[in-house]
Amino acid sequence: MKDAKSVFIAYTGGTIGMQQTADGYAPAPDYLREVLAGLPEFRSDQVPRYEIRSFEPLIDSANIAPEQWLSIARGIEEHYDDHDGFVVLHGTDTMAYTASALSFLLENLSKPVIVTGAQIPFAEVRNDARDNLLASLMIAGRHEIPEVGLYFGTRLFRGNRTRKVSAEGLDAFDSGNYPPLGKVGVEIEIDRSRLLPSPPPGEGLRIQPIGNPHIAAVRLFPGITGETVRNFLRDPLKGMVLEAYGVGNGPSKNRDFLAALEEAHERGVVIVDCTQCHRGAVHLETYATGRALARAGVISGYDLTAEAALTKLYYLFGKGLPPEEVRRQMQTPLRGEMTVRGET
Ligand code: ASP
Repeated sequence: MKDAKSVFIAYTGGTIGMQQTADGYAPAPDYLREVLAGLPEFRSDQVPRYEIRSFEPLIDSANIAPEQWLSIARGIEEHYDDHDGFVVLHGTDTMAYTASALSFLLENLSKPVIVTGAQIPFAEVRNDARDNLLASLMIAGRHEIPEVGLYFGTRLFRGNRTRKVSAEGLDAFDSGNYPPLGKVGVEIEIDRSRLLPSPPPGEGLRIQPIGNPHIAAVRLFPGITGETVRNFLRDPLKGMVLEAYGVGNGPSKNRDFLAALEEAHERGVVIVDCTQCHRGAVHLETYATGRALARAGVISGYDLTAEAALTKLYYLFGKGLPPEEVRRQMQTPLRGEMTVRGET
């Protein structure tokens, strides 16, 4: 019997549907639809039926901006009642940002939204496009997953815990601080104990428009000056992710650097400390170099990825919340994006 489940595919672009051009790989309109129509496995009884909506124009995800996060969310909202699950086809370069952003924008999500793409396009004989898309369709159509996931290689991750960790490998994503939600081998295995709970019954999907508040991310490096940081922190900046060393440390001997942070904090800029490390969390109290940042007003992002911290700042400031409330919610898990004292 034909699988009666149905999946909506929001196709934004990315390598998965690109073709070689004189200018390198670029998205080609209609190409993906044509390829899929020609592949019998995508019409198999084992695969949910699907409807594709292509973004215009299709983009390399290096060109993504917050307004496109909102269009993807709106596309899902428009088709929400007609489908069992959703797949977002996206370039890998900024996929972790989009998966994080969608997790916040889609409030009260009760159906799976699986973000995926490929390192090698369908246009090549040997590719990861086919398997990533087939597995994502099956996961989105058949499993009750009330959250935004990212599927790549053989693993399903919580979207807002992911980072792109390989520029060329087929296991391009990882989730350093949260175990995979599922694995695809001979079977598709989802670990239900790792999923978020479903929203309360009666709470329908709601999209939070975010506008484009001024947010920044700065990665600390030896030699960073107060002037550089002050330039980033200028009005109208509202929030900044400070990617710090180890458990969240920074150059505490550099007084001008600390002064720049403190001045901005006093103006209401929210500065969130995340670690540059792939695993582990911020503990500002461990070292004097961390305590100095906390005294300047920097708050701990615990084990948030920089991608999740950045998109969460967009979301909270996009809601129009005052800095005090943004600080509070930045330290509270909203969608399983962070671990605070055993909570996820
Ligand atoms: N530059 C491409 C993109 O992010 C890379 C990819 O999809 O793998 O759209």
